[in-house]
Amino acid sequence: MNRIVFFGELGSGKTTLAKKIANNLNCRVIEASKSVVFPISANFRTLPKEKYLLKKLSKISKKDASVSREIAKKTFLALKRKYSPDFIAKALHLLYVDTAPKDVKYLIFSGLRGLDNAKYCRLHNDLVVYLKSNKKDLVDRLCKDRGYTKELSVAEINEEQRLYKTKEIEEVADLVINTSSNNIIKASKQILSKLKNWRKMCKICVNTNSNPAIKFDKFEICHVCRSYKKNLDLKHLKKELDFLKTFKKKNRKYNVLVGISGGKDSTATLYTIKKMGFKPLAFTFNLGYLPETTIPRSKEIAKFLGVDHEVINIRKYIRKIDLDSYKKTVKLYEEPFNFETKKKFKKSYEIGRKHYSVKCNHSPVFVRTCQLCRRMVIRAYYGEAIKRNISAIILGINEWTNLSAAQKGKEYKVSGVRKLQPEKNKPPIYIFHLPFLLQRNSKNTKRILNKIKWRPPKGEDFIESNSNSCLYARSTERMAKRLLEFHPDSTRLAREVTVGFITKKQALKALGKIHPYKFSPRQVLKRAKIL
Ligand SMILES: [Zn+2]
Repeated sequence: MNRIVFFGELGSGKTTLAKKIANNLNCRVIEASKSVVFPISANFRTLPKEKYLLKKLSKISKKDASVSREIAKKTFLALKRKYSPDFIAKALHLLYVDTAPKDVKYLIFSGLRGLDNAKYCRLHNDLVVYLKSNKKDLVDRLCKDRGYTKELSVAEINEEQRLYKTKEIEEVADLVINTSSNNIIKASKQILSKLKNWRKMCKICVNTNSNPAIKFDKFEICHVCRSYKKNLDLKHLKKELDFLKTFKKKNRKYNVLVGISGGKDSTATLYTIKKMGFKPLAFTFNLGYLPETTIPRSKEIAKFLGVDHEVINIRKYIRKIDLDSYKKTVKLYEEPFNFETKKKFKKSYEIGRKHYSVKCNHSPVFVRTCQLCRRMVIRAYYGEAIKRNISAIILGINEWTNLSAAQKGKEYKVSGVRKLQPEKNKPPIYIFHLPFLLQRNSKNTKRILNKIKWRPPKGEDFIESNSNSCLYARSTERMAKRLLEFHPDSTRLAREVTVGFITKKQALKALGKIHPYKFSPRQVLKRAKIL
């Protein structure tokens, strides 16, 4: 459900615009005063405990009640004092959002006041519209519409600003409209156009515009899908697959390493690589926060497929800068759930995206925890492969690794191979995304798994986000999703949709699932003996 909430100065045209938009969208306008303030004024002399009041409110808010402006104002201030400055927004969400039937597409809240209520609405993903006007227009309107004198109008406007910090709302609003320079038709057009681009999802994958890193073209296709379509060359992938096959010639005990997690993709990959005639050594990296079933299942699968397996502790790859990132990240996850934290999360997400490369020597917060683990994992791939004198690593990842420069010229191509070479005079290690190179889809994987009679463990779906396979990601999932307005793992699953490995529906189901978990990120790292 999309919600629009109108804030603005007294006389800026909130009610008129709310009604106009409601007409257009064929939806309800919920007046804060009529649904929250009046019924409370009429039913309570003294305010009870918040929980009790919120429970009662659903019954009394439906009855018509009207009280004088003075009493309403008193109640408003009492609510703010006794409970919290954002009580009204909270009550409205409880009454009309949490219990709304699924087919309600739009809802408009009007008559809310105050910066704190605006922040609450922004925190809960409403479209916050702020209407402003110059003072002269506001005064004129109050004189004309309400019959106030000029002095009274000025006094009322100043009083509102003092009580509700009206002007500061401009800083937090999603959309600011000047109703002095825009007439009602123009203003409503602005709102409807903003609404059209609100929560936009790529026509192909599941990327949304809540993620600041995703750009859309006029066909509503995200830049990731666009770039993939433009740079995909199946002949190039075929060449990469042929390159992988050259490692078969290496005549030693093992010629490839295969990363396994006990999950469906890596299981099918290990099976396939053996079928292809390689001599694999399977391995599972451990930083200390794998779900307890991962290692036993990996061992079991390797044994079942007749492949040697090693569990490799990669904690030694945590550098000082990584440890600092861990510390900063768990701290951010301890902040209160409010609008300020939401801003920090969004900002940190953008910064993390710029610094997740292994070559980067900064230690930022990583809201998306996988970006931090990646720093250790990539370096461990290299270190552990060199140690074992094996230069190809196979992973069961269903999407491309990067856009690699084609041999000649500056043309870039979608690639399923990543070359790791920390320094020019050191030997390279290659990482292959096998299912992608084979252009597999989830149906092919399912078929293989059926053949070897593999079943996902209880409670696990066929398609899952990383929170299923990592406890650190799991401990951050709920808060990250609520504050970022998108699942932190959505970009990865989006790529699996882009390449056609899974369907949009499968990805949305996986991203909609929150894995319950009782430990905080700090507790997870403490148990892993990292902190
Ligand atoms: Zn897309």
